[in-house]
Amino acid sequence: MLLLLNACSSSSGSNSEEERFVEALLGKMTLEEKIGQMNQRTGQWEMTGPAPKNNNSQQLLEDLKNGHVGSMLNVVGAEATRKAQQLVVDNSRLGIPLIFGYDVVHGHQTMFPIPLGEAASWDPELAMLSASVAAKEAAATGLQWTFAPMVDVGRDARWGRVMEGAGEDAYLGSAFAKARVEGFQGSDLSNENTIAACAKHFAGYAFSESGRDYNAVEIGGESLHNVVLPPFKAASDAGVATFMNSFNTIDGMPATASSYLQRTLLKGQWGFDGFVVSDWNSIGEMIQHGAAADLKEAALRAVKGGSDMDMEAHAYLAYLKELVESGEVDVKYIDDAVRRILRIKYRLGLFDDPYKYCNDEREKNNLLTDEHKEAARKVARESMVLLRNEKQILPIDEAVKSIAVIGPLADDKDSPLGNWRAQAISNSAVSLLEGVKSAVGTGIKVNYAKGCDLVTGDRTFGNILNFNNDDRSAFKEAVRAAKKSDVVLLAIGEDAYQSGEGRSQTDITLSGLQNELFEAIYKVNKNVVVVLMTGRPVVIPELAEKAPAILETWHAGSEAGNAIADVLFGKYNPSGKLPMTFPRNVGQVPIYYNHKNTGRPVGDDMGNLWSRYTDSPNTPLYPFGYGLSYTSFMYSNLHLDKNEISTGDEVKVMVTVTNSGKVKGKEVIQLYIRDEVATYARPVKELKGFKKVELAPGESKEVSFTLGKDELGYFHPNGAYVLESGKFKIMVGGNSIETIDTTFTMN
Ligand code: BGC
Repeated sequence: MLLLLNACSSSSGSNSEEERFVEALLGKMTLEEKIGQMNQRTGQWEMTGPAPKNNNSQQLLEDLKNGHVGSMLNVVGAEATRKAQQLVVDNSRLGIPLIFGYDVVHGHQTMFPIPLGEAASWDPELAMLSASVAAKEAAATGLQWTFAPMVDVGRDARWGRVMEGAGEDAYLGSAFAKARVEGFQGSDLSNENTIAACAKHFAGYAFSESGRDYNAVEIGGESLHNVVLPPFKAASDAGVATFMNSFNTIDGMPATASSYLQRTLLKGQWGFDGFVVSDWNSIGEMIQHGAAADLKEAALRAVKGGSDMDMEAHAYLAYLKELVESGEVDVKYIDDAVRRILRIKYRLGLFDDPYKYCNDEREKNNLLTDEHKEAARKVARESMVLLRNEKQILPIDEAVKSIAVIGPLADDKDSPLGNWRAQAISNSAVSLLEGVKSAVGTGIKVNYAKGCDLVTGDRTFGNILNFNNDDRSAFKEAVRAAKKSDVVLLAIGEDAYQSGEGRSQTDITLSGLQNELFEAIYKVNKNVVVVLMTGRPVVIPELAEKAPAILETWHAGSEAGNAIADVLFGKYNPSGKLPMTFPRNVGQVPIYYNHKNTGRPVGDDMGNLWSRYTDSPNTPLYPFGYGLSYTSFMYSNLHLDKNEISTGDEVKVMVTVTNSGKVKGKEVIQLYIRDEVATYARPVKELKGFKKVELAPGESKEVSFTLGKDELGYFHPNGAYVLESGKFKIMVGGNSIETIDTTFTMN
């Protein structure tokens, strides 16, 4: 039997007072004023610098005064936002307040781990916490809107923006999308400590071919609906105020012009009532794509496609008026867009008080508070993933009397902040060295040596990084420090600006001399704990073979050093699990756990007999969901409440988890399903549930999951959600590979 379920539209409770207000205001607006609302401009300098000299700046100020701008981005600070707001409110005919947007991606002043790291906590409540702190800080600096969360499911570690997302899985990604939206927005957007969120990039952006940023996306309906779209749907269901579309074409269609995505799905079937902002000049980029002859045609295609606000292409302001007047664009598209923008401004309370977010007092008191730093430290330590711990070298023993802290990232106060942060906070993270020093007090000797630089020259945003490939002059001192210490903490990985936008790499092994440094240290001291700080999965075959311990800390934020020390010294037992597969080599990429089988019989090594590489196993280095603890967990007694269900019914899955080690710890229990036979072949396994539980040594807990129609069906390539009868395999475990299993049948 094939059961088709219609996607129901979930109109989020638009109240009539709001609609009356919006309609009344819309009724008063001229076409030009309406188009002004759809225009977003950048311009911090104009608000904080001396009187603008160039024509563009002059023009911007004029546009603001004339009501030709509805939103600004990158204007930050109570003073700067107040100035811009005043220009609009005091001078334009209707005084419709601006909405100020900014990339508040993983913290604003107090930095949290990069989003990929946060997802490694497998605890959406932590992402909610970090987003709520970020919102409070952002709102205290005049902002009402963040261009986050990025909910793109990323399977390709070459793509630098995987750092901004929740990893390779749509189910985990959906849970984090929802949590982040709820964290930023709270339950009431008009609260002065909450801001509007933005689900981006709609859609397909992370599937850019060969992991090169902005590249074309060729994806097909089955993957679009089952992999790419679910986290966007989750954000929409969570009431996200805005969406951002994406730079890429998707099967040839620029996402910015896609009325299927933006109108049929998002605003139609999903019932989204907020607005869609374009990505930066993504309207203009349609020309380069070869999908519009000029900016005028680009404006026409974008507005018809459902892009409500033009970020910095200047296309709407220049051409929408004449397009409407010539009859090429129906004014209903303009009205729909403006209605959506006004609605969000209304919900933010901007019409009650346009200056409520520009508050010097809050700006002084709400940033980098002890409470925020404590939250950042907590989230950071829960995000770390213990990849290796041979001979239980971690946590660091009380017998250890000297520790060498070595590596280009060991005393780096900048890279742990990760990419995407407010400019003013550079070099403000607690470095590993600082964290270790304050953790050990005076009883333990700390020997620091840098060993080598990772990057040479200018590493400011926007520059291609140059890596240090030949200066080994500081190796000697590092070897000396290693020799005289009981344990070595070797901090290596990636510079903050190695990942993020425009930071794609064909080689994701450790850059520069880092592997060589490891070898030099390891030669004189085998007790090397690698503290790996990265913005993406990296290729580390040598470390994985030799280093007795590897702790993936990601770019852990403001409190990085303290949080890492918490884990290294056993104050916190690591509980993170990989949200993205670590490949053995870059040739395996894209590699992800929920792939489909080939037609070749499955042999050993997960490889199919002929569908294998002749020079590498098919298996990853570390699989999705993987991560060790200082204790161990056992899984037993997996059972179901019934072995047969009717289509549409639920089945309950129970499993017992035991802490079989000697210390308290948290385990992420993961449930995967496989729909054994389907019209469209299903993945070998798909995550459909997870729970994080804490267990004392020797303690057992029964954990249960419910699988129903939301978990047991899938989308056909045309977007129809389908439940197909047949046999399902259930797999439960502490990662995506080591699982126990059972089956049931859906009739
Ligand atoms: C990025 C967006 C970001 C925007 C504004 C673009 O280049 O793709 O994610 O929100 O810039 O900074």
